[in-house]
Amino acid sequence: MSNAGFSSQNGAGGQAYVNGPSQSPFPMQQVSQGYSTPGQLGYHNPVPAKAPMPPGPGLYNAVPPVSSYQSGPGPHMPVRPQMGGPPPMPPGPMPPTSQNSVPLPTASTNNYYPNAQNPSPSSWNYGVRPPMGVAGTPPPQPGNHVTSTSSSPSPVPNLPPSQGFSAGPPPGPTLTPDASRPPGPPLPPASLNSWAPPGSVPPLPMNAMTPQTYQPGRPAYGPPPTAGPPPAMRPTPPPTGPPLGTATPPPPMAPQHEAGMRQTHAPTNSQDPNSFEAGDRTIPDPPSSQPGPGPAGRPMGLAYPSLPPGYQNMAQPPNAPPMHPTQPYSSGPAAYQQPSMGPAQLSPSMAAMSLQSQTPDALRVVNLLQERNLLPPTAIEAPTPCLPQDLQKVNCSPEVFRSTLTSIPQTQALLNKAKLPLGLLLHPFKDLSQLPVVTSSTIVRCRSCRTYINPFVSFLDQRRWKCNLCYRVNDVPEEFMYNPVSRCYGEPHKRPEVQNATIEFIAPSEYMLRPPQPAVYLFVLDVSHNAVQTGYIDVVCQSLLENLNLLPGDTRTKIGFITFDSTIHFYNLQEGLSQPQMLIVSDIEDIFLPTPDSLLVNFNECKELVQDLLKSLPQMFSKTMETQSALGPSLQAAFKLLSPTGGRVSVFQTQLPTLGVGALKSREDPNQRASAKDIPHLSPATDFYKKLALDCSGQQVAVDLFMLSSQYCDLASLGCISRYSAGSVHYYPSYHNQHNPAQTERFQKDLKRYLTRKIGFEAVMRIRCTKGLSIHTFHGNFFVRSTDLLSLPNVNPDAGFAVQMSIEENLVDMQVVSFQAALLYTSSKGERRIRVHTMCLPVVNSLSDIFAGADVQAITGLLASMAVDRSVTASLSDARDAMTNAVIDSLASYRTAVLTIQQPGLLSPTCLRLFPLYILALLKQIAFRTGTSTRLDDRVFAMCQLKYQPLAYLMLMIHPALYRVDDLTDEGALNVSDRTIPQPRVLQLSVEKLSREGAFLMDTGSVMYLWVGRNCNPQFLTQVLGVPSYAALPQNMTQLPELDTAESTRTRAFVGWLREQRPFYPTLHVIKDDSQLKANFMQSMVEDRTESALSYYEFLLHVQQQISK
Ligand SMILES: [Zn+2]
Repeated sequence: MSNAGFSSQNGAGGQAYVNGPSQSPFPMQQVSQGYSTPGQLGYHNPVPAKAPMPPGPGLYNAVPPVSSYQSGPGPHMPVRPQMGGPPPMPPGPMPPTSQNSVPLPTASTNNYYPNAQNPSPSSWNYGVRPPMGVAGTPPPQPGNHVTSTSSSPSPVPNLPPSQGFSAGPPPGPTLTPDASRPPGPPLPPASLNSWAPPGSVPPLPMNAMTPQTYQPGRPAYGPPPTAGPPPAMRPTPPPTGPPLGTATPPPPMAPQHEAGMRQTHAPTNSQDPNSFEAGDRTIPDPPSSQPGPGPAGRPMGLAYPSLPPGYQNMAQPPNAPPMHPTQPYSSGPAAYQQPSMGPAQLSPSMAAMSLQSQTPDALRVVNLLQERNLLPPTAIEAPTPCLPQDLQKVNCSPEVFRSTLTSIPQTQALLNKAKLPLGLLLHPFKDLSQLPVVTSSTIVRCRSCRTYINPFVSFLDQRRWKCNLCYRVNDVPEEFMYNPVSRCYGEPHKRPEVQNATIEFIAPSEYMLRPPQPAVYLFVLDVSHNAVQTGYIDVVCQSLLENLNLLPGDTRTKIGFITFDSTIHFYNLQEGLSQPQMLIVSDIEDIFLPTPDSLLVNFNECKELVQDLLKSLPQMFSKTMETQSALGPSLQAAFKLLSPTGGRVSVFQTQLPTLGVGALKSREDPNQRASAKDIPHLSPATDFYKKLALDCSGQQVAVDLFMLSSQYCDLASLGCISRYSAGSVHYYPSYHNQHNPAQTERFQKDLKRYLTRKIGFEAVMRIRCTKGLSIHTFHGNFFVRSTDLLSLPNVNPDAGFAVQMSIEENLVDMQVVSFQAALLYTSSKGERRIRVHTMCLPVVNSLSDIFAGADVQAITGLLASMAVDRSVTASLSDARDAMTNAVIDSLASYRTAVLTIQQPGLLSPTCLRLFPLYILALLKQIAFRTGTSTRLDDRVFAMCQLKYQPLAYLMLMIHPALYRVDDLTDEGALNVSDRTIPQPRVLQLSVEKLSREGAFLMDTGSVMYLWVGRNCNPQFLTQVLGVPSYAALPQNMTQLPELDTAESTRTRAFVGWLREQRPFYPTLHVIKDDSQLKANFMQSMVEDRTESALSYYEFLLHVQQQISK
């Protein structure tokens, strides 16, 4: 395979981004015989070749030091005269214009084409290759497709050709705890940290041949059995005890309601007043002519709202079954033989047997129209793959790696039948409390497909291991024979690499042709009049001053600053200056760097100058009258400044850019915000930001965008600068230091996290999967550099990714398949590291097994990403229809192909029971809602978030958690570091769950609302909120007072604990009946009907009708 397919599913097609010498340190050369061509791996490009230096001295006029401006520069600032001469050529190859003319994003157009069997244009066939060149959409990007893992032997670049396999005794690998591991919790398995430092002499071959040291305890790695399938895939009986739900009686209901529901639910009742028009798969408007019998004044549906007692009072049955069975099928009594797990050796029927013999709880039939309380009382956990215990116990954490289907269908045809999407959700750089880190001169990888050795390979004997992705048999290198954990020789299967599904390697330095880059931070600040008015500059400078010493880095760390309005201001911070020196470039058409060598300075050497600048910056522009914004040229300057090294650009912007390249005009019509029709302008107005982002990506520069705006800023255009450079977008609408204190507080807290969190530079990520599976679409912020290689100039712990997959070849001979994500990055300390995650999943050959393994949250997360793409490439209504049809099609498939006994109602397997609710929540989410006033930037930002957030945070954004908090008790509380954390149950998102006597906390991920009822328990008002009465509650209350009462302590402990669960800081708003934000709170009541959207019950009826057709 060559580097010909250097294209992007992000929309940059073709050959544009050739790997020139100044392109990147990561070789694009795909070497099929990696071991013999070391020269083609690793860093090829010495830094000096990366970019020509900008014009030298003499091209600028230095202006006096900053201090001379402190009395208020504004329009009086000296301005550099226009310079003549040709502009310096931008470094690096420029992408041909054709690359940039492709509308974006194009990725998902591949996956949303009409289903051949289904005339509905809004359905899709998950994972099947799209027809080429569908009219009106860009042709699929070949670069997005991997025909098969084994056919692309593409090694992860810069990993060593392992020349050391035949070398003598190993130098002694080391295993060190991750330096970034927070203090506190004990280290990983003690043995991992208890061994000798490098240099200790491994015990030598005296043990090598002694059979007793060859892992007597673990049969898994013995020689493969001669015959017979392993007994381990046979299921154990389901847990005993209370029947898991099959006997759960239908919830009690008031008689008249029950009757009403029966009538309504009768599938033959085609005259049902709640029914929607046959043949219409789009969601109809809710019936508006009949107010229904619900309480007056509350917008309600017909049948559903009339049932409050039934819905509200149904308590969850005691000992309700957990959502997902935990380890329902442990390995049988006979010892499980791992060698036979060589997937090709097992009969696929074995796994299927495990599910067919018993009906697992995940498959228990639920009639959604009758069972109302579907939410489990606490957070929903990921389903456990149906694997033998000794595989599952070493499997990757679902927090890091998750599949929409925890049982992989044997064929694409079977997957198509299930009508569920197949894909992975990753959180690859998540902050981990325990991470084994290995330093070893030999990183063991498959010679064919370059997979890293992992817990799911099989050892044929002590000296050979079989790859679990391509099945090649590889030699065990000599060094790997020594187990640093036990300090024993002859235990390759006990090495940490084979015991941990998540592990990090420190790549030996000899594998790098270019030294790992230093941590480089450039801050680019809007200092226009508008920006100064918001007051944000003070917050940024203050936050930087407080956190400067916590910026990840080492002695090589570099830092720089640019400010801009209609001109661009650079700051000379070179050591030896008595004050920072401001250099103004007013020629924004022809950007150059005034003093290239002194604008990015060594942080440690110039810390005082940096601090001086941060202290004076807020005043420097306080009287400015400059309203223009030359954002585009400033970004070009930032790119030039960082091109030689790579690094991170943090851009703070408060308005639409108005000057120079990348200038934008408002595209939003405020009168159309509540449109029920399609939303225009979801795609960028210019390709400038995308093109620049691709240039940045090529030079290992990522751009993070902080939008602090009160008006439309065209995030759809500006966001591209971050999206394609693997940056992140942060958005603070209506930001103002004084007028919006909650937003300011969030900004401060977010900045602290942003500045101090871990960061990886010049990163790439490759995802491999077992032969037969292929990845065809990626979601997230990155650039796809080759078929399966994501370019990530920066990677941060808060970034999530998703991929869609298809089944290219039947997996008939396999019992399990594996997926491996390898993230190669440079740490802020200048170490080259590789973080590897490997997940193993069973292969099944029946639809019921597929359904039993469905992960409804992962499915929802993937569909959300797909729908964002569809909104941009097709239309919002198309995306909405596709999501609805995903529910209809999958439940229809379940009904016709899995259920053997037909019964009335809307039937779902237990594991998918929340699917319609989540999809309805998505339809009502800011990103996809219609008919509700929604600012375009709010919508676009929500779409960015849906594609970028890790699943755990995404789910709160889609379906917030609601708790009653005025009666918190310690019953069932958690105890976390000596704090008692109450655990109130999660309530349905319906006003029926609210009561005027209570107080309710809604957690939407980024915002929390505390709704206080008019007749709220006085105890709560005085003991928690610190007010004597409801009337005394102030508007805009955003803090819980620290009162010395048990109630206050409990409530604050709970809110604090929720906040700790995520990286960024959710603000809290106390809501009264007359609060402005009450509308936001009510709009999150997903189950209720609104003027423009169906209630949950109405939605179920719609789904049922479509299925019954
Ligand atoms: Zn392999």
